[in-house]
Amino acid sequence: MLRFRAWRRWRGDADGDPAHVAPGERIPFVCNLCGTANSGTLTELSREAPSCTHCGSNVRFRAMAYLTTLEVLVRAQPLPEVAPRKDIFGLGLSDADAYARPLAEKFSYENTYYHTQPRLDIANIDAAREGRYDFVIASDVFEHVVPPVARAFENARRMLKPGGKFIFTVPFVPEGDTREHYPELHDWSMAENNGRWTLTNRTDDGREQSFTDLVFHGGPGSTLEMRLFSGAALEREFRAAGFSCLRVAAESCLRFGIHWPEPWSVPMVAYA
Ligand SMILES: [Zn+2]
Repeated sequence: MLRFRAWRRWRGDADGDPAHVAPGERIPFVCNLCGTANSGTLTELSREAPSCTHCGSNVRFRAMAYLTTLEVLVRAQPLPEVAPRKDIFGLGLSDADAYARPLAEKFSYENTYYHTQPRLDIANIDAAREGRYDFVIASDVFEHVVPPVARAFENARRMLKPGGKFIFTVPFVPEGDTREHYPELHDWSMAENNGRWTLTNRTDDGREQSFTDLVFHGGPGSTLEMRLFSGAALEREFRAAGFSCLRVAAESCLRFGIHWPEPWSVPMVAYA
């Protein structure tokens, strides 16, 4: 059994060093999803705000494709320049179209959803998907998975081939432990009354609970935030799920307009 390793790799020199960019300076970059030439300041290269003038990709979307090419093809390439490799199998969990579409053109990649077809519930996977994939992507999904979240990490690892890559993001805080908002979720439902949402839960041992301070991502009633992870807790989850090692992929790739000004909520790559 491999000893679990976690490390951080900075590749600032190879792909442009943000430390050498003046405040307000416009950096030319190519969108690695659609191939469009853009420019932007470091401040404009934000995790969530669109910064490609053509496809509207943000830093997180471009990072998912950057990491797929770097980790699976061993070279970071813009997707339009990648020769199709249908022998490489990938799976997405509610991936955004901006990168899911070009990934599907280049690889045997399938995007899946919790609510619509093709369906996949990461908490309860079909045995037919086990050991099938060279890469699995889950970007800002695991904070919404019904607890216990440990089984989702384990299922992601089980779907990968040996040596397969789990390309992962969630919002996380640098300090402390994960805060589970509803650790005893069992028999539960949500209801809206005058714009105010309530979550009602009956615990496994029959206690009634009610919560009103619900946090949604993507608008009220859509995707409920179940937890706020911490960096240390994530490392623990990957290790417990049987991944052999973890890379915190906080490196910049300025030629693709990828830049992480802060050490939290950055991508991670876990190796099966
Ligand atoms: Zn684009």
